[in-house]
Amino acid sequence: MQKGLFVITGGSRGIGAATARLAARQGWPVVINYRNGVEEARSVVRAIESEGGVAHMVRFDVCDEAAVVSGFSEIDRLGSISVLVNNAGVTKDGLLLRMSEEDFQDVVNTNLTGAFRTAQKSLSGMMKKKSGRVVFIGSVVGLLGSTGQVNYASTKSGLVGMARSFAREYGSRNITFNVIAPGFVETDMTSVLSEELRSKYVSQIPLGRFCSPEEIA
Ligand code: NAP
Repeated sequence: MQKGLFVITGGSRGIGAATARLAARQGWPVVINYRNGVEEARSVVRAIESEGGVAHMVRFDVCDEAAVVSGFSEIDRLGSISVLVNNAGVTKDGLLLRMSEEDFQDVVNTNLTGAFRTAQKSLSGMMKKKSGRVVFIGSVVGLLGSTGQVNYASTKSGLVGMARSFAREYGSRNITFNVIAPGFVETDMTSVLSEELRSKYVSQIPLGRFCSPEEIA
C-alpha cells in the first residue's frame, strides 16, 4: 500500500500515542488528532520527529460535527488519507440505576457517533484511490458486557455493527473496516480503577496482567 497519511483520533495519549509512534517508525506520515491535550500531542510529535519520522497535529473534538468537518479539510490539505484509526474514546462509568441519560449520551457521542463522523469524512479520498484501511478501537467489554459500563459497552458493541456495515458498503472499493477489541490496557483510562477492581480484573486475565499500549499498537 502506498504510504499516504496515517490518521489517529485521540493520538495524544495511551493507545493512540503508541500507535502513532509505531506507525511513524514504519515510515507512515502520521496525523495526531487530539481534543484538549495540546502539550501531550506536541510531545508525541516531538518524539516522532526525534526518531526521524513525520507527524502533524490536528485539533478537533469528535463530538462536534462542524469541528470534524473543518479538521478533515485541514488533514486533506496535508495529503491523502490511507489509514484512519478511530481511537478517541471516553468512559463515564456508573451502575445502571444511577447512570444519567447525559452520561449515556456523552459516551455514545464520543465513542460511537464520533467514530461514525470521522470514518465517514475519511472516505471520499479512499474511494478515489480505491484503497483504504479504517480501524475502530473497540473493547472486550463490547463482547462480554461490563458492570457499571452499560454506556461504554454499548458503544463498543455498536462499533462492530458499524464496521461490518461500512465494510459491506465499501469493501468493493478495496477499503477495509476492522475492529480491534483490547482487554485492559495500562493507560490514563484504567489508572482511575481502584486496586480492588484492578485485582479482580487481573485475576480473570490469563496473562495475569494488563497489557501495554505498545502491544495494542
Ligand atoms: P486515554 O489514555 O484516556 O486517551 C484517550 C484519547 O482520546 C486522548 O488522546 C484524548 O484526547 C482523546 N479523546 C477523548 N475524547 C475525545 C474527543 N471528544 N475528541 C477527540 N479526542 C478525544 O485512552 P486509552 O486507554 O488510550 O483508550 C483509547 C481507546 O482504546 C478508546 O477508544 C478506549 O475505549 C479503547 N480501549 C481502552 C482500553 C484500556 O484498557 N485502556 C481497553 C479497551 C479499549 P485529549 O486528551 O486531548 O482529550
